[in-house]
Amino acid sequence: MSEGVYGELATGRVTHSLLRLSTAMRSQAWEWAESAGLTPTQGEILVLLMQRKNPLRLGEIARETALTAATTSDAVSTLEAKGLIEKRRTTEDGRALAVKLTSRGRTAAKRAQQWPDFLTEAIGTLRNEEQAIFYRTMIKMIRQLEVQGDIPAHRMCVTCKHFEVSKTPKKSAHRCSALNLAIGDAELRLDCPVHEEADSLTQKKVWKIFAQSAA
Ligand code: SF4
Repeated sequence: MSEGVYGELATGRVTHSLLRLSTAMRSQAWEWAESAGLTPTQGEILVLLMQRKNPLRLGEIARETALTAATTSDAVSTLEAKGLIEKRRTTEDGRALAVKLTSRGRTAAKRAQQWPDFLTEAIGTLRNEEQAIFYRTMIKMIRQLEVQGDIPAHRMCVTCKHFEVSKTPKKSAHRCSALNLAIGDAELRLDCPVHEEADSLTQKKVWKIFAQSAA
């Protein structure tokens, strides 16, 4: 048996695979960004502003992108100098500044959103059941990384107070009480605009059921 770079256990092999994927993502992100005269960080901020629709403060951008305040501030200043974003006073607090896309910024954000197309294409070659299991596994990974404090919260169904988890998702779907929707494992949402954080006890209960239910 060949020796795994990160050990012989499945944990090491999965880690190795994820690192190979991250290399591909970094390379594709830089390739796209250089062709657009931006950095991947600047592209990420444009996409975030497009997804959120409302202006965001610098602190919110830093939190959502897991960047430092200094890096966020530099990237935002560069985007402003390029005419892709503009700052304006927030309505709640007239002294605070928030950032929004200009029309040129919206066009750039739409292009920036396309760089991961190579991943979508590769995932599309998996069977539907494989995609569903893969997504469920990703949700579990994201949740665990959130719990470890390694990534910011992603406003997903499993932490939302509107989520009604199913013990048997294959037979009966989960439900969203806010949108009155049945939600299969493959339809669980990330970055949902109507997400509302459940209290920690509810989150723990939901997570226990979700993590133990069969895919
Ligand atoms: S509001 Fe959004 S995140 Fe919450 S359960 Fe419904 S779809 Fe999921």
